Amino acid sequence: MRVAIAGAGLAGLSCAKYLTDFGHTPILLERRDVLGGKVAAWQDSDGDWYETGLHIFFGAYPNMLQLIKELGIEDRLQWKEHTMIFNQPHAPGTYSRFDFPNLPAPFNGIMAILGNNDMLTWPEKIRFGLGLIPAMIQGQRYVEEMDKYSWSEWLKKQNIPPRVEKEVFIAMSKALNFINPDEISATILLTALNRFLQEKNGSKMAFLDGSPTDRLCQPMVDYITDRGGEVRLNAPVKEFLLNPDNTVRGFLIRGLNDAADEVLTADVYVSAMPVDPLKAMLPKPWHQMEYFQKLEGLEGVPVINLHLWFDRKLTEIDHLLFSRSPLLSVYADMSNTCRGYANEERSMLELVLAPAKDWISKSDQEIVDATLQELEKLFPDHFGSSNPAKLLKYHVVKTPRSVYKATPGRQQYRPEQKSPIANFFLAGDYTMQRYLASMEGAVLSGKLTAQAILSYEESGVGSVGANPCAHLEPEVTSQGLEVPLASSSQTLTKN
Ligand SMILES: Cc1cc2nc3c(=O)[nH]c(=O)nc-3n(C[C@H](O)[C@H](O)[C@H](O)COP(=O)(O)OP(=O)(O)OC[C@H]3O[C@@H](n4cnc5c(N)ncnc54)[C@H](O)[C@@H]3O)c2cc1C
Repeated sequence: MRVAIAGAGLAGLSCAKYLTDFGHTPILLERRDVLGGKVAAWQDSDGDWYETGLHIFFGAYPNMLQLIKELGIEDRLQWKEHTMIFNQPHAPGTYSRFDFPNLPAPFNGIMAILGNNDMLTWPEKIRFGLGLIPAMIQGQRYVEEMDKYSWSEWLKKQNIPPRVEKEVFIAMSKALNFINPDEISATILLTALNRFLQEKNGSKMAFLDGSPTDRLCQPMVDYITDRGGEVRLNAPVKEFLLNPDNTVRGFLIRGLNDAADEVLTADVYVSAMPVDPLKAMLPKPWHQMEYFQKLEGLEGVPVINLHLWFDRKLTEIDHLLFSRSPLLSVYADMSNTCRGYANEERSMLELVLAPAKDWISKSDQEIVDATLQELEKLFPDHFGSSNPAKLLKYHVVKTPRSVYKATPGRQQYRPEQKSPIANFFLAGDYTMQRYLASMEGAVLSGKLTAQAILSYEESGVGSVGANPCAHLEPEVTSQGLEVPLASSSQTLTKN
């Protein structure tokens, strides 16, 4: 079957990859001139890369790790020591660690928590451990039920001292969804803690060895195109064209640079766009359907990613750091953590600014100035001294609507990959899958969509030549471009 997919983020790429494994032909349409969506990266005129987000891979990402294995690029993941490192605001320039010993789960996690005496007292650790018991005993059902509470409310309900939130969970909430504990759903933290405590290497982290566009997305494109699929950049889907019975007749692609619009027809259609542009594009006849109405409950959260190049080395730490700054979330010196960005003389800090709602409309200069002030607390030896570190250049990447904002009650709005429209499916990190809005969630959603399309085909409705809807007009089932006009879109092939 020919499957048209709108959006070449990880969900769209994963869906296309698994469709080729099932013997189908995906045509992947990406609005922008760059692959990857929220993992997209660009090279500046000096050849330095800058990214949409500082991205960490976890041991608890089975679908992502499987995909990487299938692509034969496992050597591109740079695994770090099994530890979590937090800045200590009361002692600038110092760190506190949760070191996971080489023991089976959950003992390594318990030892990591018990072994840290800087951030939590023994009574706090005990209270927190007791609070987690229901989640450990009742598992996922309990975790889902807790979606009615914010993390702050859940901590209070479990009698966990407020200091635990302040010391550990502001940083974790910001890292997981770019918002604070009083906003984030308890389900998000409990899901992460469950994975981290139940899998020996669940919280072990890896960095990719270069830009995600180049080192992760391009191999997926190679895989897809080697097997007959197509990936087109600069191909924005403008409208879903419908048949009289409201199934999809085609994707209307906006012509760029004065080119005419184009209609792409296929047997099956997938939206792998983020939820916000999808909502804006839903055809009128679908608006009454509960499945699509529920999407109104989901909305992307703002976040900002900064890259700062300095004239010297600020740290030798080769790991992710939780800043515990009110302005910033996690950060890393990418000149240490990532082979592709390695530099023995100079640091390149990549930092996530969150929550970003009050910053997203500010100028890059204002954002960088505020960040530099925070760096005085994170690296007191290098700033505020008589010979402060010099900022050589910077890039700021703003994403006004990134992953869906996971406030309490959002789980019920997350759609299944199969829609009520027979030949239309959804993929994306916001769709229902057991992982959060993350790279793992995006890859898994794409895989689930490919599987749902396979079931659709096996049910006979979607087999090639079969009409997905009873009264489809004959010309609509034609394959290939209905109007094969020249366009400015670029078809990607193997490098
Ligand atoms: C700052 C930041 C840090 C992050 N850190 C991590 C991390 O450490 N670990 C982790 O696991 N996850 C992290 N994430 C989350 C992760 O990046 C996302 O969950 C994941 O990449 C989403 O993939 P997706 O394919 O669902 O959506 P997207 O990546 O948003 O892809 C959707 C694609 O659809 C395209 N599109 C939109 N409209 C159209 C249209 N009309 N026609 C055609 N194409 C269209 C977009 O251009 C985009 O390429 C982070 C995200 C950000 C922003």
